Amino acid sequence: LPEPAVEALQPEDVAALLPRPGLESQKYARGVVGVRAGSAEYPGAALLSVSGANTGLCGMVRYVGEEAVAHTVREQHPEVVGAGRVQAWVVGSGGGEHAGDELRAALEHGVPVVADADALSHVEPGQAAVLTPHAGELAAMLDEERDDVEARPLHFARLAAERYDAVVLLKGRRTVIARPDGRTRVNTTGPSWLATAGAGDVLGGLVGALLAAGLPAYDAASVGAWLHGAAATLASDGGPITASEVALAVPEVVREVLG
Ligand code: AMP
Ligand code: MG
Repeated sequence: LPEPAVEALQPEDVAALLPRPGLESQKYARGVVGVRAGSAEYPGAALLSVSGANTGLCGMVRYVGEEAVAHTVREQHPEVVGAGRVQAWVVGSGGGEHAGDELRAALEHGVPVVADADALSHVEPGQAAVLTPHAGELAAMLDEERDDVEARPLHFARLAAERYDAVVLLKGRRTVIARPDGRTRVNTTGPSWLATAGAGDVLGGLVGALLAAGLPAYDAASVGAWLHGAAATLASDGGPITASEVALAVPEVVREVLG
């Protein structure tokens, strides 16, 4: 069988796919995303996942986690509320030993789940909508070598998508987004400066918000990767960036894309 073609989203594709509020929309209709990330040891991962989710692309963000961490999240993000109904979950960044329990709790709701970082080693086939590993995490999931995954990202992203029956977003300079049926997109909108701590946490939050807003998993993953990279390029302007700055630049990128 021939390999399926690889596509790259163009700005007009992103504009067409982006969720936007209708005239009569209220916040619940725009979608609610829940974040179960971070821990007492890694509170920053909670903040950054929430930053990516809280970029205005869905109607509301909920954070569920240890009270000390939740307190910090609410202090920095006054829009964020506590437990309740959600249309999608983001799980795993900085979750440490709690990540498995957080994943199980999220899966109980029967809504799509984005699994990242510490949740990836607990995911079973058919459970998550989107998996967002970097090469090292994907290598561990497939029991392969990191070097081999880095050398053949298309091959291994597709293999993982099929094996895990999920959309796999393999992060890197060229980010590969693969569906279980082999359909694949590649994203290169991000600058090398995006290789910085917490950048992946922001991406997970962004993809979760797009899922909550109603995008199918493949589109949520690829539009999320596109916006994340473009926001990094805008914030970077040729120089260094932090993950927090990437999240803050997302609304401006959306504005440009919608033109
Ligand atoms: P994480 O490893 O989870 O923090 O995620 C890293 C983020 O940085 C992902 O969005 C990657 O796609 C991105 N990234 C890593 N290395 C590069 C690179 N060399 N050029 C562009 N983006 C990168
Ligand atoms: Mg990460």
